[in-house]
Amino acid sequence: MTENRPAKPQTGRHNLDPHLDRYAARTAGMTASEIRALFAVASRPEVVSLAGGMPNLAALPLDTLSAQVGEIIAEEGLVALQYGSAHGVPALRDQICEIMALEGIKAHPDDVVVTVGSQMGLDMVTRLFCDPGDVVIAEGPSYVGALGSFSAYQANVVHVAMDEHGLVPEGLREALRQAEKAGQRVKFLYTIPNFHNPAGVTLSVERRPEIVEICREHGVLIIEDNPYGLLGFDGQAYPALRSLDPDNVVYLGSFSKTFASGLRVGWVLAPHAVREKLVLAAESATLCPPTFNQMIVSRYLATHDWKGQIKKFRENYRERRDAMLSALQQYLPPGCSWTNPDGGFYVWVTVPEGVDTKAMLPRAVTARVAYASGTGFYADGFGSRQMRLSYCYPTPERIREGVRRLAAVLESEMDL
Ligand code: PMP
Repeated sequence: MTENRPAKPQTGRHNLDPHLDRYAARTAGMTASEIRALFAVASRPEVVSLAGGMPNLAALPLDTLSAQVGEIIAEEGLVALQYGSAHGVPALRDQICEIMALEGIKAHPDDVVVTVGSQMGLDMVTRLFCDPGDVVIAEGPSYVGALGSFSAYQANVVHVAMDEHGLVPEGLREALRQAEKAGQRVKFLYTIPNFHNPAGVTLSVERRPEIVEICREHGVLIIEDNPYGLLGFDGQAYPALRSLDPDNVVYLGSFSKTFASGLRVGWVLAPHAVREKLVLAAESATLCPPTFNQMIVSRYLATHDWKGQIKKFRENYRERRDAMLSALQQYLPPGCSWTNPDGGFYVWVTVPEGVDTKAMLPRAVTARVAYASGTGFYADGFGSRQMRLSYCYPTPERIREGVRRLAAVLESEMDL
């Protein structure tokens, strides 16, 4: 019983957890994401949440899906409800290759490993490649879930700046030079080339070969995380980094944004040798991804006009993006700037000097609007003048109202 244990002095950590001295050292890097902490308040109906990144699933054909789920159980129930291989359902891996072909990727289905969402892919690649203290290069800002995985495996993140054309090649070169000078081991570049979360920018076609070349020159692997690639508002897919250098890029994909996030089906496409290790890592994590869910995705892809469905999603998101950008233009006070996303879910806003978006958040929630403050998207405490606004989920009217409320909070903050 813990009550009889003498109290141990805690340095900077609260002492409410009786298991504190049992945890492995790496748990120190596991902290609740600011965004998760926000969910409870932001989901109150009176609050317009521009905080979360939940896909808007309203356009899904639920009746068709319901019938298909029934068919799977009736026709293949004993397979669907059974364990499967850690590699994933073969038919689905074939279909995933067809999807990736839209981005110029030529892949063999054997090199695809199905995962429980691409978040699991992120966890697995970090587990495979990162020892404590290794350096991971990531855009600044970067996806909060990826930063969580890097921190859980005690990797050190070095951020490289982006501009409106995405990751800045000279910044990447400089970060690699600095790391080499300091004798650090850079394990990979983690990048979200398309419709970045949270920055809302896309790596230009011109920069892509340069980024690939720099990484190759420095012997650094690329982890290309691409859950939004098919959600470009003009319907054009960008060439994947993987298509430019198949041997040096591990590609992460997902059905969360193009079909159904709750099914938790994603994938990793890896060079052959890495794929072998990934299957072993997947086995030890989950034995296999859920067979039933993979079969739902596979049947949906085989029988439904999934490209037409993605077009519907895109149109939905484009309407919301337009509402967000025009509301920002109309309401935000002078001195604010923001990115102009051509796809995906997010706008990245920079507010005037003197405003701290993290400190302002409780006041925004009181004013019934929520956003994700910028610091959560950096591993180094930067981002206090930034915030991420998501336009994916609320209606255009709610988005306008949310931005109007946010602008009022910002104005009173600037008067302080
Ligand atoms: N990468 C990025 C950039 C994301 O935005 C997300 C989800 N928000 C993920 C990975 C994880 O997606 P999932 O696990 O649902 O496939």
